[in-house]
Amino acid sequence: MDSCCTVRSTEAGAPTACPSCGKAGRKVERITLKALLRSEALARMTAPEHRFCPSAGCPVVYFGQGEIFGRDDLNVPVFQKEPRGHRTVCYCFAVSEGDLRDEIAATGRSMATERITDLVTAGRCACEVRNPQGSCCLGNVAMAVKAAQEAVRSNDKPLTVIEESPRHASAPRPRGSAGRTALAGSERDGPELRDRREAQGPSPDRAAFSD
Ligand SMILES: [Zn+2]
Repeated sequence: MDSCCTVRSTEAGAPTACPSCGKAGRKVERITLKALLRSEALARMTAPEHRFCPSAGCPVVYFGQGEIFGRDDLNVPVFQKEPRGHRTVCYCFAVSEGDLRDEIAATGRSMATERITDLVTAGRCACEVRNPQGSCCLGNVAMAVKAAQEAVRSNDKPLTVIEESPRHASAPRPRGSAGRTALAGSERDGPELRDRREAQGPSPDRAAFSD
């Protein structure tokens, strides 16, 4: 990024692996930290170069020579380090995981990738100053769309696993009286037992779990 205030950094400035989790970090521009670090964190920034740690379970967001910045040092939540489900995926145009699920539930698919791509092509994205990873969100959006599709599908069809089992689907039905025993439990018990059951009403367990 060309700017009168930007000093060109040296390649040797930042370690490549996160000092906390050991995962390789991607280099981020200084402008990203300047835009997203809280004032007090920005005031102590001294390293010439920084990298972004993408590990979900690691508290470090940026690391440079002799310094680290964690989640609390940023003024926005970090996509990679927040619990899945309601995260902001696209920081420039404010698309969340919930938005993706709503769109898929309403229309059957998400056009988020296409919409964001159009806006990026039109030169309206500002990932380097809005997205903590300092780069385009489209890879994250594609993953989030896939996860949202799976979430919506599993909500729509809770019995998918049973339907997919060929053993249950193709098993021949038993003939004659044997075929009815599974359904006729109360008949076998006789009238006395059946009456007692009805008098007791639903068991407490069932009542507790009913919707
Ligand atoms: Zn890390």
